[in-house]
Amino acid sequence: VRNYLSQAKTWAWKWRWALFMNLFLLSPVFAYELRLDEGGPDRAVIFTLAASVLWLLSVQLFARRLWLAHAFLFPMYLVAGIDLFVIRNYHTRFASNMLLTFVENMGDAKEFLLGDIRRVASSLIALFVGYGLCMWKIRDLRVTLPRATVLVPLVGLIVVYGGVYRYFHEWHLVMMNDRNSPFGIFSQAYLTVALHQEELKARERAKSFHFGAKRASEPAEQEMYVLVIGESARRHNWSLYGYPRQTNPRLSKMDNLVVFRDVATQVAQTQVSVPLILTRGTIEDPRRASTEKSIVSVFSEVGFKTYWLSTQQRETAMASISHFTSEADLVRFFDHRYDMSIVDTIKEIVENKGPGEKKMFFVAHTLGSHFNLTSRYPPQFSIFPDGRSDSLVPKDSSGSGQAELIGAYDNTILYTDHVLAELIGILKQRPGIKALLYVPDHGDNLRDDERDLFGHAHGNEYDVPIPMLFWYSDEYARKFPEKVENARKHATRLLSTRNVFYSMTDVSGIALNDPELPRRSVFSPGLSDVKRMVYRHPKIFDFDEWLAQTGTKIPDVTPPK
Ligand SMILES: [Zn+2]
Repeated sequence: VRNYLSQAKTWAWKWRWALFMNLFLLSPVFAYELRLDEGGPDRAVIFTLAASVLWLLSVQLFARRLWLAHAFLFPMYLVAGIDLFVIRNYHTRFASNMLLTFVENMGDAKEFLLGDIRRVASSLIALFVGYGLCMWKIRDLRVTLPRATVLVPLVGLIVVYGGVYRYFHEWHLVMMNDRNSPFGIFSQAYLTVALHQEELKARERAKSFHFGAKRASEPAEQEMYVLVIGESARRHNWSLYGYPRQTNPRLSKMDNLVVFRDVATQVAQTQVSVPLILTRGTIEDPRRASTEKSIVSVFSEVGFKTYWLSTQQRETAMASISHFTSEADLVRFFDHRYDMSIVDTIKEIVENKGPGEKKMFFVAHTLGSHFNLTSRYPPQFSIFPDGRSDSLVPKDSSGSGQAELIGAYDNTILYTDHVLAELIGILKQRPGIKALLYVPDHGDNLRDDERDLFGHAHGNEYDVPIPMLFWYSDEYARKFPEKVENARKHATRLLSTRNVFYSMTDVSGIALNDPELPRRSVFSPGLSDVKRMVYRHPKIFDFDEWLAQTGTKIPDVTPPK
């Protein structure tokens, strides 16, 4: 036995660099699938690990010259690297869900990478240097076993995949569970394409969809309603919600403003959250968002002219959101512009065509506090120290940059305060009934505590709670006094983004043949309590129950000195 062991040792020493390279390619499985911090892996890890090892063995036994095998595997090193990056930052694998997110919004991915450019660049350099060094070290290694040995792992793969197929009876489920590293990327990419096509088909089906929206009585006055969708705005940093820094100098002096104190998103991810704001889809039934139409069509059906104005990027891609834009009469995207460009456009529309269009509905999809923060507001809004002068991006975690990160974030809120106040100013000038609802898609983590969490998709006490504001004109209050009264009465209720579609429908007195409407609208006397279900990978949970069970409080944030 001792002889055996020393042989193994000699072998391992000779092949150490190749073993190290294989270990790197496998590392996403160790880093994620073992779930060491969640009480260990589930059974799927056997499949994942076996498939990973067998694929890698097959390639190397087949190529025989190791450097050749690993030259061919070079793209897989990048895949494994991205996988590790996604695990570290998003707490999920670089699998179909994440791929779809990346495919659907390349801009998002690009911006995130640019925002964290130092970390990304140093990781890439480390990857290239490590890869180059290892390639040099393995240049003479050759497999001496007979070529037919490759049949062993190949048969192994057939047994493993065959076994999993016998369990699921569906190749598509086999692929979904095929999260081996690095070759699982092929299964995941195939699934991404399939998912994307399914989404396109769902949209085709929605074309013939009608809400059957009606109004009992149509006001004779001009009407204008605006739904402003914010971005990555957590209520912790709004002075309207008690933040000690004055980030809402204008809204805090605004009349006719209802501040909903306790609102939660259903998922802290733009592509999923925004459709749930716009439609009757919920986090338990997100498909409804793609099989039905959005709030835009509700207003079209009762004769409103509809507008979609966005500073977010339009790409084939933001598919899950951008297909709603086609429901609007007028669509404008302002790529790489400040959110005020939306307000300026609304001003133009109101001033030029105001009297011509009696009934108008706007969706304003803003960039708000989207990464990277300092490019979201003009220099004159750089009120809180944000390090803007010495760098285009806020410095990262390492101590000194934290105050600048928070400063930049607070400046985005300050700018949002300005944008909303300007928009309300324009609404005020136009005669008739006007109302505006503001709600962002989710909050954000800003390396707030020792967990060092950054960004969203964490589904926690920082990126789930969001602000929600309702503004109405005096004419509105005269026309719908009971709705204003109900909104004020319900301002302290526990609400979620699933209240938005129905509230926006009800705000103008539009009726749907849907029993949910009186229960979900904040303008309805019969508003009922809603279980605030939230999605955080890998499951949906009751947010308030989670807060209670874990003793988590929505934290008060203290601004940097
Ligand atoms: Zn977002």
